[in-house]
Parts: sequence; C-alpha cells; structure tokens
Amino acid sequence: MGAVPHLTELYDVALLDLDGVVYVGPRPVSHAPEALRQARTAGMRLAFVTNNAARPPERVAAHLTEIGVEALPDEVVTSAQAAARLLAEQLPAGSKVLVVGGEGLEVALREQDLVPVSGADDGPVAVVQGFSPTVGWPLLAEGTYAVASGLPWVATNTDPVVPTDRGRAPGNGTLVAAIRTATGREPVVAGKPEPPMHREAILRSGATRPLVVGDRLDTDIEGANAAGADSLLVLTGVTDPIDVVLAPARLRPTYVGHDLRALHVSPDALRVRAGDATVGAWHAVVDGGGLRLTRASAHAGSGGAEGLAGSAASDGAGSDGGVARVRGAASDGAGSDGGEAPVRGAVSDESRVGAGSDGGEPGQDALDGLRAVCGAVWAAADATGDAAGATGNAARAVGDSVEAVTGGVVDRASVEAALDAARITRAPARPY
Ligand SMILES: [Mg+2]
Repeated sequence: MGAVPHLTELYDVALLDLDGVVYVGPRPVSHAPEALRQARTAGMRLAFVTNNAARPPERVAAHLTEIGVEALPDEVVTSAQAAARLLAEQLPAGSKVLVVGGEGLEVALREQDLVPVSGADDGPVAVVQGFSPTVGWPLLAEGTYAVASGLPWVATNTDPVVPTDRGRAPGNGTLVAAIRTATGREPVVAGKPEPPMHREAILRSGATRPLVVGDRLDTDIEGANAAGADSLLVLTGVTDPIDVVLAPARLRPTYVGHDLRALHVSPDALRVRAGDATVGAWHAVVDGGGLRLTRASAHAGSGGAEGLAGSAASDGAGSDGGVARVRGAASDGAGSDGGEAPVRGAVSDESRVGAGSDGGEPGQDALDGLRAVCGAVWAAADATGDAAGATGNAARAVGDSVEAVTGGVVDRASVEAALDAARITRAPARPY
C-alpha cells in the first residue's frame, strides 16, 4: 500500500479484547494468530485486555500461547486487576476483602497487598465481585450479608452473559444482580466500559498512543470513546454490521475491519465517519426515511479495492453513469429510475466479506459499502440528535438507543436490505 502507514505504525500498543477478537472459547479467531505475530514484527506492542475476572494473567497467557498467540502474563490485563487497584487506592495494605469470585480476583488482590477472605464474618472491610464458574448460592449469600452491612462493593464488570461453547451462560452482571436485588445497593464497576479498566491497561502497557480493538460496541468501543482513545471494531464477535450502522455516537468506533488483519491496513481504508457517505465504489443516501445505497460501476472493484477512497468522500461518484442502486425493502421510489441494475447482480464476488481479492485488502469492497452506509446514517442521526436529547430520549441500552437516535431518521428494514443486497454481511459462523 505504498508509503501510507498501517495501524501498526500509527499506534504503539493494541489494547486487544479477547473473546470474539482473539479467540472464541478454545479456538483462535480466524487470522488472529498470524495478524498478531506480524503486528509484533511491525513494532506494535500488544496488551490483552479482558473483562473476564475468572482467570489470573498467567492462565490467560498460557491459553493464548496454546492456541498460537504468544503472550506473556505481563501483557494480560484483567478487570480483576482494575478492581483490585480501585480497592487498594481506598484501603490500607493488609486489608481483608471478601471475594465473591475466584482465583483471578484472589491473585489480583494479593498483588495489591490485600487479603482475600471468603466469609462475611472473616473481618472484610470491602467486597469485590467477579465472574467465576464456581460461584454458588453460599458465596452469593456471604456477599449479600457483607454488602447489606454497608461495606464498599466493587464489581469487576456487569456483562450479563459469558460466551461458552454451548451458548450464553450467566455472567458477572447476572450474579451482581442477585446481590443488588437482595440488598438494593449498586456496586462500583471497574471493567469496560468504565474508566478504571482502560486506565489499568494504560498503566500496565505504558501505551502513549493506544488503539482499542474490540468486538462489542457497549464495552470495548464505548470504553475507548469514554477515554478518548481511537478504536477498531472487528466483525468476528458479537457485533453485526447493522449494529454499527445504527449505533449512537458514544458507541461508534474510529475504524471498522473484518478481523485482526485490519491492523495491517491503512487507516484510510478503515475509518468510519459521519458524513463520509461516498467510499470506494459506494454512495449512500438517507432519503425520506429510507437508505439508498448505490454503486458507481459494476466494474469498479479495482477502484474500491485500493482502500484509499475515504478521502474522496465528496467526489460526486453518484453522478457517474451506470449507477446501480440498492433498494431497501421499504421502497423509496427508486424503481422509477430506468436502466439501473440491481446491486445484487452487479456486485462482484470480491466484495464478499472475508473473501480474498487480487487487488486490495480482503473484503475491502464490502467494507467500503458498510462505511458509506455508516457515514450517511450517522450524519442523518446526528442531525436530529439534539432533538432526541431535548426530549429526554437518551437511553442506556443499545437497542433502545438505536430507536432513540435513529427513530424517524432511517428505516431499519431498508438498512438491512441494502446491506444484504450489497452482501455486507458478517461471516457465517456466529461464535456466540
Ligand atoms: Mg469481546
């Protein structure tokens, strides 16, 4: 890609989420081991940043190494460490802390000169709660007694579920909810998207220009935005392309890539920005409540595959002859334009997400289409953002926010239809 630097050269440390980014359960995510090996070779340092507090860094690093991603314990940052630091900043060394969790928390507390205990009658001065598959009713009861007595309560994270190879299982957020329900109290939360987790990752990695890499909008990306860090969303985990398109501002990534190979791509081929609605061969318009996605030419793959089209956001490609048009399921009247080819037939195979191409990055054409759609929809949503805020419509949950931010701006069905017609779909295997 010539002299244009890749992400590996623009950022000193990649703060990598694990589940859905580097591995899914016992398996590495496709291309992850090789892409991370090459990132190290290019001079980028790696930090493995996980909300999962169950395992200490040594075991996380061993698991990573086992699946082909070499990692040292010092490169692993867990929400248990972030929680332990929060407590250590408030408590004298040697203080006893009740652990509603497992080994990961015990190791993190000892590292901060705090003493883990397992009973409410053992003299704890605080309670820390983090996921462990061994947590059962007796320990939840000890935690409830201690929290009800008024002790400080820190949760490593509040992710409601943990992915397992059999599906979604109760995560720490679900277990925290048990003590919350029983006591009526709220914990302080250390993990993503809260600031302590990012701070822990910066402190341990020494990053001066970090790139947060994650698969979740409401933890990884929201945490990066809250900290003012740039972020790369990869589509190998829980986030569907439609989720990115409909995301409110606080959940929007700086870059979108298919997988960790994106680290070796120029930022101009990955950047997503409100208003950048012409990207590569694609042009997106929000009009009359629907999304219209057009493609400049059935043979434009070579242009779109260069990966530098982001800077050509206003070149008026839409006025080229031979424009193909995607129509959403909610018809917006595009059919009245004669002579336009439906995109489904016009898109070449190279635009398939994840497919290799002989010219540019794998799947670059489809990625460009997604970026164009985001550029158009984000700008349209932002234009009404003030009104949504003024009516007190701000919602915390992702789904609610989607409705609050995009309600009346763009019809979801038309976005889905456009993405589908342009084959901007995620890889077929859903990890969880
Ligand atoms: Mg993840």
